Amino acid sequence: MNQIRALVLFGMSHIIASTSFAESVARQGMVAAAHPLAAEAGLSILKQGGNAMDAAIATAFALGVVEPHASGIGGGGFLLYYDAKSGKVTAIDYRESAPEGLSNHHFRSGTGFRLAAMRYGGLSVGVPSMVYGLYAGHAEHGQVEFGSLLAPAIELAESGFPVSADLSENISDKLDLLMDNEAAAELYLEDGVFPPSEGETFVNPDLARTMRAIQTGGIEAFYGRESAERIAAAVVEAGGVMTAWDIMTYRPRVGTVLSTTYRNYVLHTMGPPSGGGLATLQILRILDAFPLADWGPRSPLYYALLIGAMEQAYESANRFIGDPRFIQIDLERLLSDAWVKEAHERMTIPSFDELPPDEPLLTYRPAVKEPIGNTTHLSVVDREGNMVALTQTINFFFGSGVAVPEMGIILNNELFDFTFEDGSPNLPAAGKVPRSSMAPTLVFKDGQPVATLGTPGGARIPAALAQILINMIDFDMSIVDAIAEPRLYYDAPRSRLSFEDRETTDAVEAAVRHFDDPESFDLRARGAFDRYFGGAQGIWIHDDAEGQRVLHGAADPRRGGATHGY
Ligand code: GLU
Repeated sequence: MNQIRALVLFGMSHIIASTSFAESVARQGMVAAAHPLAAEAGLSILKQGGNAMDAAIATAFALGVVEPHASGIGGGGFLLYYDAKSGKVTAIDYRESAPEGLSNHHFRSGTGFRLAAMRYGGLSVGVPSMVYGLYAGHAEHGQVEFGSLLAPAIELAESGFPVSADLSENISDKLDLLMDNEAAAELYLEDGVFPPSEGETFVNPDLARTMRAIQTGGIEAFYGRESAERIAAAVVEAGGVMTAWDIMTYRPRVGTVLSTTYRNYVLHTMGPPSGGGLATLQILRILDAFPLADWGPRSPLYYALLIGAMEQAYESANRFIGDPRFIQIDLERLLSDAWVKEAHERMTIPSFDELPPDEPLLTYRPAVKEPIGNTTHLSVVDREGNMVALTQTINFFFGSGVAVPEMGIILNNELFDFTFEDGSPNLPAAGKVPRSSMAPTLVFKDGQPVATLGTPGGARIPAALAQILINMIDFDMSIVDAIAEPRLYYDAPRSRLSFEDRETTDAVEAAVRHFDDPESFDLRARGAFDRYFGGAQGIWIHDDAEGQRVLHGAADPRRGGATHGY
């Protein structure tokens, strides 16, 4: 079916509609994003002659309008860029930082932490950084005028767009939070009380005005005193300590690109303050020593090793990663052969000859449906072969729940990503950036670009990315199948093994029996396509039989998404 589809579409050589598995095939350029209207915004820029950076910026602004629960100009993100001409991969770190006025008494309570105070409301808000991050990306690599990249997003905010089932449900899930803040209730609820229904038209004229000001006034329109004072006032009103100065002095940073090889591929992802990038690469480095292809995708041996690799990688990201301006991190060692060898020694390596005993069934707990979700990812490839992988967020859906009156913006709760545990490299501090799991990733083979990929999903991000890459590299799956394949996530400190319930239980059970104490695993069977495990977008680049480049895109069926190419 896919092949027939591909042949027909090659003939057409223009926009390819999305399917429920949101796949498409194209030649010139492609955008994969979590909402069709955002993917379309990016595609329109590619067709007007913009490059991958331009299209990514337009898509990012549009996502902030049509998927306002997940990201927007009240938040931040990470961006990886591959410049085809120079062959270089660079990163922009526009993660939100804590205000300078944040001090011990805001997050400490006696010997413990004031977790509830840092979860939502003003104290949870980091300095909004998306606009500056995208502006910096444009200054480095953009081709068309910055202001024009906001046009599709402004149009969507002004004229409106149909509320998706997802958006309606996400607003309902966060009703209490949104009703708690007058500006947020006004922004997202009808009469300040009712969530909009699917299909209704959603407009955000305040956000359109804010973006139009940026379109004409540039960076100053958002980070200048007037706008900064308004944003800071909303944060303070909600119990926070942000000042206009925190916003006016915010600058994105040149990000650290973290690289490694896996099989015969080279992977580049985000370095600290992302811990997710390191964990993704470490999982793969650990598994590189094993013949996964011989065992197959849902094999107990592969699952058993994956569980062990996740435990090692997550432990190391938690132990060593934080804001690199505040701590020393020996990245070279954390990706060295010596580290991998030590990880193998610490792990339970399953016996490859003996099958584990066939004992009575382990006990499962059904996972409770939680109104969780966060973040969004987009990937772009352009005609010249430049690539972007961009993951952006306001952290939890609807972030802190604090909106800025008359600006149409909801602010992030990124500061809840600090670790509230003594001794952590990720303890909160004034001016510090909290650790992130986000890990936009670019893949190369023989020096040639092969893929751009990423996903939301909180702590599940590294697990999801490693599994998708293994599915493609070891198991030879198409990007669509690789993303759709059921996923596992092992939360070692809680011994909790969550997995998607799609004919995977036998393999998961057999995998767990390879360990000394199978009963110690807290097994959680989750839904068949559960957004708990993320919502990946990616583009894989192949050569066809004539040696011509083909772009094959996929958006995760766990969350709405689309891939549009031409
Ligand atoms: N705040 C989260 C992080 O940076 C967002 C990513 C996500 O949860 O999907 O890790």
